Amino acid sequence: MALIKCPECKKDVSDQASSCVFCGRPLKRKNRMSGFALFGFAISVTSVVLFLIGFLGIIGFTLSLIGLVICKKKGRSGTGLAIAGMIIGFISTAFFAVWSYYLNSLFGNITW
Ligand SMILES: [Zn+2]
Repeated sequence: MALIKCPECKKDVSDQASSCVFCGRPLKRKNRMSGFALFGFAISVTSVVLFLIGFLGIIGFTLSLIGLVICKKKGRSGTGLAIAGMIIGFISTAFFAVWSYYLNSLFGNITW
């Protein structure tokens, strides 16, 4: 529980309150975004840019999945971001699988 400033009377009120206890102004409760959803999405996007690092896509997918579960359970915002992160992470992983298969067929018969 934290204190926020009432935009009307500038007094400190609980962020859990639906309205200011001093002036009665309705307070918009900020729906905090799940960090997992945000980081999962960010890592998935990064894994697309650096798609040669395939495990990043898997990490992004996993974090986004955790983020999605947290969003659903705790009512956090970021559901769309988490779903996007999962899709991007999945595509990135699939892309990496194709890429490594391609590299393997090119260099697979080379022995050092
Ligand atoms: Zn107030």
